[in-house]
Amino acid sequence: MLDGLFKPRSVAIIGASNNPLSIGHIVIQNLVDHNFQGPIYPINPKSKYIKSFKTYAAVSEVPDEVDLVNISIKNTLVPTVLEDCGKAGVKYAIVHTAGFKEVGEEGLKLEKHIVEIAHKYGMRIYGPNSQGIQNSDPAVSVYANFTFVPMRPGNISIVAQSGGVGETLKLHLHRIGMGMRMYASFGNEADVSMNEIIDYYGQDDDTKVIMVHIETLKDPAGFLEVASRVTKKKPILVVKTGRTKEGVKAVASHTGSLIEQDTLADAIFEKSGVLRFYSQQDMIEAAIAFSTQPVPQSENIVIVTNTGGPAIIAVDECISKGLKLAQLSPETGKALGELLFSEAIVSNPVDVIATAGAKEYGGTVEALLKDPNIDSLILNFVTPPFVDCEAVACKLAEIGAAAQKPIICIILTIEERWGEVIRLVRQSGIPVYDFAESASKALAAMIKYGQIQKRPTPELKELPCDKKKAEGIISRYSGQDRFLPQADVFELLNAYGLPAVKTVRVETKDELKKEAQKLNYPLVLKIDAEEVVHKSDAGGVVLNLKDETDLLAAFDNMANTFKKYKPAFVVQEQLVEGKEIIMGAKAGEGISPMIMFGLGGVFVETLKDVQFRLAPLSQAEANDMIQSIKGYPILQGARGEKPADTDLTAEMLMRLSQLASDFPEIDEMDLNPVFVFEKGNGARVVDARLKVRNLG
Ligand code: ADP
Ligand code: MG
Repeated sequence: MLDGLFKPRSVAIIGASNNPLSIGHIVIQNLVDHNFQGPIYPINPKSKYIKSFKTYAAVSEVPDEVDLVNISIKNTLVPTVLEDCGKAGVKYAIVHTAGFKEVGEEGLKLEKHIVEIAHKYGMRIYGPNSQGIQNSDPAVSVYANFTFVPMRPGNISIVAQSGGVGETLKLHLHRIGMGMRMYASFGNEADVSMNEIIDYYGQDDDTKVIMVHIETLKDPAGFLEVASRVTKKKPILVVKTGRTKEGVKAVASHTGSLIEQDTLADAIFEKSGVLRFYSQQDMIEAAIAFSTQPVPQSENIVIVTNTGGPAIIAVDECISKGLKLAQLSPETGKALGELLFSEAIVSNPVDVIATAGAKEYGGTVEALLKDPNIDSLILNFVTPPFVDCEAVACKLAEIGAAAQKPIICIILTIEERWGEVIRLVRQSGIPVYDFAESASKALAAMIKYGQIQKRPTPELKELPCDKKKAEGIISRYSGQDRFLPQADVFELLNAYGLPAVKTVRVETKDELKKEAQKLNYPLVLKIDAEEVVHKSDAGGVVLNLKDETDLLAAFDNMANTFKKYKPAFVVQEQLVEGKEIIMGAKAGEGISPMIMFGLGGVFVETLKDVQFRLAPLSQAEANDMIQSIKGYPILQGARGEKPADTDLTAEMLMRLSQLASDFPEIDEMDLNPVFVFEKGNGARVVDARLKVRNLG
């Protein structure tokens, strides 16, 4: 519980000063300006009064309990004052001071040192190198932050790794007259973590929606756990920067920590039900809708407009985001037919035409709200000079304030003339956007969250497998970092119910001759050497060997090409008519393995049509992975081909996930391709690579 941080009963400012440009001064000013409800104690051994507050030489001299201190003195002096704070029973120390982990080795040492001091006294460090916190709850009204955007109550809580991004978000809310609930930009995250803050917001009844800015996930597993819990109650909206390779570098040098691959973040967001946005604007526009509107019950929407073009844009945007234009019920159709002018178009979008006044526009919205086929409304309103637009706005505001279904609005107008129209609508809680694109994106995010909320808790079933046997194989390589021979990989996969095509390993031509007699032609001959990773690229795969003559010729050829490796070979039966898929797994650091799925074959890297999810996989997640690839129609049997058994594919993904989870020694594996056949005909692994790691 971070109550001492977000609801301090008293605050001391260490580094308080009469210099208006100092952080200590600014924090006091912010606390005063926003009517902090507790006492403020400036700490400064040299002044008697700061801003008409009596000053103390040290926190231990304050004749009262101090919950929170804000520290902005020189980094090397921080340990000494923390000792004093600890002894005085301070609960939280916001360290604004920079010059810690972000400046290198020495700074990191100092950072660890201050955390140790704090923990010795049961105190927590927020930061260092942090902006601060805010809580607009009128019972507290704490602005323990050195920034400048005025604070007013609201229900959106923000946690931003970058203070600059956090400030941008606050500023935008301020500009449109919206408040926020709590705010935190936590700096180096040496002690109090982003995950704890999200958890705290999750438990705060007056926080309706959470906005998060992330550069690096310091504790991905912790985030997954917390976010999964919180998203059941309220939406978490995230912008994560460092998506591009260049961005990763900027982040790495910026925070002094390495970034995980963005795919891991995506898999975590997906599993925990977090909504990811790719721009601050998209996130904040969605947050505004979440803040004021109920979550839509379905993707069935209606668009109302008094002008043509923007409604068509809204339709395109909504449809492309998976929303559906609801079919109006016959009752609604009848009611609108009677209400509207004859030129109006009673379908979806409903075009009430430009001459519609308060009665027509308002009446339409009222009728649509009653329609059981409709779960949310987008209103597009341009202010026609020949209509009493304020009257329309008044009517919409009145309806909006009472509506049980989400309504969002696009208003096209001149603010100088009809600013009141925007103000009235906004005041009722209906979010107002400039563009159809923004409105539909915000609504799509809300609808997606509605679907996430309805997601059943994933059912994890343990599939029967021969774990003992697998243990035996893995243990042969314990303590090593290496790729396993194909035969062992196949045996391991087989133990987990992932059978391979009939394959025999041979070293000599005589052996090949003998073994091939037990197999059915056509056959495939492959090189089996640790040095040759992509066999077919190197000429190490020969297909379509229809008889022994072909086979032996291929052998001579390959033996010659690869003679420097003294290679072994595998001979396989050749499969036909199956669909080639790829399945893979990559071990995580402190988090479960990542599972990959896509269309397989030699063009995987080129097409990049793959999906990642975190293990363990439920059936629903496995199905979702399969259905999410672009090539899904190919699996379903495009162009008259037979469909591949996708149920079996899902089961295989779950088996792979189970194998990777059972053995953290497995660093990575790649089953490419796996041939999946029609229902009833099974599936076969054709090629597999598996690397184990030394866990020490
Ligand atoms: P690599 O990935 O190292 O190049 P593979 O063993 O995956 O080698 O073979 C390359 C491609 O050859 C496969 O993607 C598949 O299209 C085809 N292939 C390999 N073995 C077989 C087989 N037994 N039956 C059918 N096709 C095969
Ligand atoms: Mg392969």
